[in-house]
Amino acid sequence: MHFDTLAVHGGQEPDPAFGAVMTPIYQTSTFAQHRIGEAKYDYARTANPTRTALQRAIAALEHAKHGLAFASGMAAIDTVLRLLKPGDHLVASNDVYGGTYRIFKRVYEDYGVRATFVEMGDLSAVRAALEPRTRLIWVETPTNPLLKLADIAALAELLRSQPLPRPLLVVDNTFASPFIQQPLRLGADIVVHSATKYLGGHSDVVNGLIALNDDELHARLKFLQNAVGAVPGPLDCFLVLRGIKTLHLRMARHCASALRIATWLESHPAVARVYYPGLPSHPQHELARRQMHGFGGMIAFLAKGGAEAARRIAESTRLFTLAESLGGVESLIEVPAAMTHLSVAQSPLAVDPALVRLSVGVEDPEDLIADLDQALRGS
Ligand SMILES: *Cc1c(COP(=O)(O)O)cnc(C)c1O
Repeated sequence: MHFDTLAVHGGQEPDPAFGAVMTPIYQTSTFAQHRIGEAKYDYARTANPTRTALQRAIAALEHAKHGLAFASGMAAIDTVLRLLKPGDHLVASNDVYGGTYRIFKRVYEDYGVRATFVEMGDLSAVRAALEPRTRLIWVETPTNPLLKLADIAALAELLRSQPLPRPLLVVDNTFASPFIQQPLRLGADIVVHSATKYLGGHSDVVNGLIALNDDELHARLKFLQNAVGAVPGPLDCFLVLRGIKTLHLRMARHCASALRIATWLESHPAVARVYYPGLPSHPQHELARRQMHGFGGMIAFLAKGGAEAARRIAESTRLFTLAESLGGVESLIEVPAAMTHLSVAQSPLAVDPALVRLSVGVEDPEDLIADLDQALRGS
């Protein structure tokens, strides 16, 4: 089936109880058992039908055998990191999401798990960072906020030649969404999502998802999901399921509007540089064309007037809301150095304070451009 059909129907069946077309919100903590040990569901931390439907949906969209749902993107990331043991090592993109950097450095380092940050687009740098105890390569593509790309297929190829047990290739696919790329099909082992962003799509839920093919890894992660218990409630699962049904429609609009806005920004006199994979000026534009189906809804740009100008721009838009997060139907603007990336200030991942990040929503692009124009004029 094509992606658009999977978005609406993937992993979904009318509810067996009453034929409800939309998966019901099974708001219950426990389930009646007719005979001991024979029930499909027993306790809602372990499994809940609304969550099962969401897990099947993400598996369908990522062309995966298995899906798992969590209370947040960070809970999903934490669960993957629990595959590691003290003394293990991981290699990560050098501009990973701030919260991911924080959990590597301020949570897992205390448990003896070390991280090395590299330019993920540079295969020789990745190879040079591998150690005998490297168990994971943690990739974001495009990255946040600089929208740098990594070649997922080339990384998978590199890892195939490593001695066993070879490191796992994990891709945080939040920025792209499965509409744009399906990393498992390119050779990744595990995909994680902050479903809070494009999958939910309406800025009304915090949720995390994992998709993968390997049965043994799935069994271990499913064990951790239940043993640790960072599971989402059924209402949250319902909201993500509803969001997914229009993912293809929203993403097509996000991509078209962002390309238009990025092109317009590039010729604006108050803008020093635009970062968007869909622009021919992007250093990895060729890779973007090969790897991505559309270039996404995220844009970053440097204000010519520096840090002060960046703040003024972000505080003077009317349609773009000044807020963290991304991937919703409404357009958002922020200054990463002072907001989303504050936790990496003074680290090697620190972001230029003149950088402005846009999450382009699904409003009319002409209205969005007019709003940015009036904000840039005042900068
Ligand atoms: C938001 C985000 C996360 C964390 O997800 P939460 O749902 O906020 O816990 C992880 N990775 C990326 C790329 C994100 O944008």
